[in-house]
Amino acid sequence: MSMGGPGGGGGHPGGRPGFRGVDEKAQRRLNAEAPEVPHLGQRVVALFRPYLARLIVTGILVVAGAAIAVVPPLIVQRIFDEALFPVAGGGPDLTLLAQLVAVTIGLYLLSAAVGVVQTWLTSTVGNSVTGDLRVRLFEHLQAMELAFFTRTKTGVIQSRLQNDVGAVSGVLSNTLTSILGNTVTVISALVAMIIIDWRLTLISVAIMPILVLVQRRVGQVRARIAGQTQESLSELTSITQETLSVSGVLLSKSFNRQAAESARYQDENRNQVSLQIKRAMSGQGFFAVVQVIMASVPAIIYLVSGWLIGAGTDTITAGTIVAFTTVQARLLQPLMGLLRVSLDLQTSAAIFARIFEYLDLTPAISDQPGAVTVAQAPGPVGRIEFRDVVFRYPDAAPDSRPSLDGVSFVAEPGEHIAFVGPSGAGKTTVLYLAPRMYEASGGEVLFAGADVRALTQESIIDHVGIVSQETYLFHATIRENLRYAKPDATDAEIEAACTAANIHHVITSFALGYDTVVGERGYRLSGGEKQRIAIARVLLKDPPVLLLDEATSALDTVSERVVQDALDAAARGRTTLSIAHRLSTVVGADVIHVVEAGRIVESGTHAELLAGGGLYAQLAIEQLAAARIEEFDARAEQG
Ligand code: ATP
Repeated sequence: MSMGGPGGGGGHPGGRPGFRGVDEKAQRRLNAEAPEVPHLGQRVVALFRPYLARLIVTGILVVAGAAIAVVPPLIVQRIFDEALFPVAGGGPDLTLLAQLVAVTIGLYLLSAAVGVVQTWLTSTVGNSVTGDLRVRLFEHLQAMELAFFTRTKTGVIQSRLQNDVGAVSGVLSNTLTSILGNTVTVISALVAMIIIDWRLTLISVAIMPILVLVQRRVGQVRARIAGQTQESLSELTSITQETLSVSGVLLSKSFNRQAAESARYQDENRNQVSLQIKRAMSGQGFFAVVQVIMASVPAIIYLVSGWLIGAGTDTITAGTIVAFTTVQARLLQPLMGLLRVSLDLQTSAAIFARIFEYLDLTPAISDQPGAVTVAQAPGPVGRIEFRDVVFRYPDAAPDSRPSLDGVSFVAEPGEHIAFVGPSGAGKTTVLYLAPRMYEASGGEVLFAGADVRALTQESIIDHVGIVSQETYLFHATIRENLRYAKPDATDAEIEAACTAANIHHVITSFALGYDTVVGERGYRLSGGEKQRIAIARVLLKDPPVLLLDEATSALDTVSERVVQDALDAAARGRTTLSIAHRLSTVVGADVIHVVEAGRIVESGTHAELLAGGGLYAQLAIEQLAAARIEEFDARAEQG
């Protein structure tokens, strides 16, 4: 295994179901069941706290808007009964009619203006809350330990940030206005209806309790579908992320797996389409029934009014009936709006649960209370010590052999300590533990004389430079990639670092020089060029400790020499822990530790270990023999 760079996860190109994160099945089940998360509502409401002032103004506007809306129907009653067809008899009172119409139009204008301001306020608040949530989630995920990223698919993480936060953004933006606005409109309409005729009002609202009950059931179904939809979206994002990345495309092309990958995508896409259709259709029947009922109420009102008038028990005027049915018709939209919003809330509960589930993850590695900086540590900066360190990866089976089993060594400031040994022996793991990327299960890792757990993570990393076999470069210019290490680096500093890393002359030979865009993950550069840029990046950072993980193993002999020279220059004056498969690169190390099955089995200089005739000597003989065969083959080819 090699140390991946930041964000270098990339999942498993062409991943099969068996590769899924261990927690994924449980997650799927969790989401599908739309869990009741305690205090979910309170947590969502808390997101709005920073915008309280604007919310209060919005509330006032909503109430004002609704109060304005009560008046026109009451005026309609007067238009009919006093201006158009005065109850006292005689022709229409045109002056009064004109006044009442003017007031009605004025009120509608005012109500429209209030509506615009209110929409501006709520959309600002809603979108800001969505933005805050996205950033909070991003920052929280960044604080998660490395192990979280090795066990979770990159696409799944991306999906939570983009698809899930995106899915609730509508609810966050619209819910509040919708609830406030519609509730007030419904109440004001009801008040107006009661004022006009309380008996007709009773008839109009009799059906409501049944609608609420049905709506709850519909909400539950929709919540379940929403959870499944987001889960399927997450799977789609993962497939895209895995398959349409440079490594993924390379892999699928080299194994001719495009058709299989398309089939996998199509399967999930079919699932997504059917879920979207279900989501769009669920509740439609319910809404249709509500619409029919609400639309039929005026007809029922005419009927009942007719009976009442016919029975001679009452004197309902035409104005009363028209005004009542006008208000009642205006009740339809806000009522439907309230039903919809409450459905949306139930639906998005499942998605909020997914977001909070990630926000609730606690980073396994974080600064302990009272953690100090490396500068405050008792020992010299650049001293690293492992004391009887035992380590088992968090995902490893409990009864498996630990990846490190009682490892002890000391690296004094400026020393070059090398680790060699068979594949899977635990060399990379040592390099992970030194800067506390993972935490030792037993024993102690000391940095500058202090237990790494007593130091702040930031200050440890400030003192460490990592060059891994898998170099990670951003899709940006060479200059931008280098400035990642030191944002305020001058051009002269950048060039000096590149000169020391043996790459300056290569960069200047490109048409755009330092402004050359390196391509996704640096794919436009050769392996050796990428590594030398990574070395220059570390040189710019200028840390006292260097961790080099098989930095030259992927290169041919000539490139290896060039990169090795760059590394030697970089290592000068720094504590260096390096891993190498080619023993030629560690011959000059102060101490070489031979690691086997999680333990250091031999230690010494190159000469001492050769003389010892142990595993190191055996590896050296094997490599020498291999090199001889290569040389022999090359000579034979030359003729
Ligand atoms: P190589 O030379 O092949 O890179 P290495 O000596 O660097 O090997 P490590 O990467 O340190 O070996 O791995 C040591 C052991 O830990 C191996 O058995 C490996 O399978 C296991 N291991 C590595 N990473 C993980 C992980 N994230 N979860 C579980 N086990 C892991």
